[in-house]
Amino acid sequence: MEKLTIDFSKNDGLVPCIVQDANTQVVLMLGYMNEEAYTKTLQEKRVTFYSRSKKRLWTKGETTQHYLNLVSIAIDCDQDTLLIKAIPQGPTCHTGADTCFNEVNRKNWSIHSLEEIVQERKSNPTASSYTNKLLASGINKVAQKVGEEAVELVIESKDDNQELFLGEAADLMYHYLVLLAAKGFTLSDVENVLEKRHAKAS
Ligand code: AMP
Ligand code: ZN
Ligand code: ZN
Ligand code: ZN
Repeated sequence: MEKLTIDFSKNDGLVPCIVQDANTQVVLMLGYMNEEAYTKTLQEKRVTFYSRSKKRLWTKGETTQHYLNLVSIAIDCDQDTLLIKAIPQGPTCHTGADTCFNEVNRKNWSIHSLEEIVQERKSNPTASSYTNKLLASGINKVAQKVGEEAVELVIESKDDNQELFLGEAADLMYHYLVLLAAKGFTLSDVENVLEKRHAKAS
């Protein structure tokens, strides 16, 4: 096999370098390496970039200790981009997020997204979660909340404040999903019932 040398001849000697979490495969950040940063990364097994804003070598985590511990380095077909797998020692983004990347387009938020969150909370309770507090209060309490929200929706449907009406409709939907989860069901169980009815009717 041909020796894989990195082409540092373009872009003032800076090679873009994508960092991916070696365990989760989440893309964590993009940085630039010059030859020195690359050598240091290999030697110290911690990802070091050349920071264009700091104008010096920058070992990710040098002040926060949120290092990116090197696992592997891959090079692209024309040897001018690196893909690094690393194990992050803490959040990668300076905002405290695991990854620097946030989706800007996709807003495929749907009732199913909310259901996934509710089901996820049920299997992985979090202390600060309202859903978990509700679930812990028992099925009767959850059912009672559904009743209350339904009544609130009925009340709001009597005048024409659209915002309040939609707010209560959302409250009802959420509590309904929590009740389904509390009973050990999912929306698809309900969909199956509706589908059967539809089949009968048509
Ligand atoms: P750190 O390298 O984690 O010790 O952070 C030192 C400084 O580098 C931070 O205050 C930020 O200005 C910057 N920084 C940290 N993480 C990132 C990142 N993922 N992308 C861009 N800048 C960062
Ligand atoms: Zn390339
Ligand atoms: Zn970031
Ligand atoms: Zn309400």
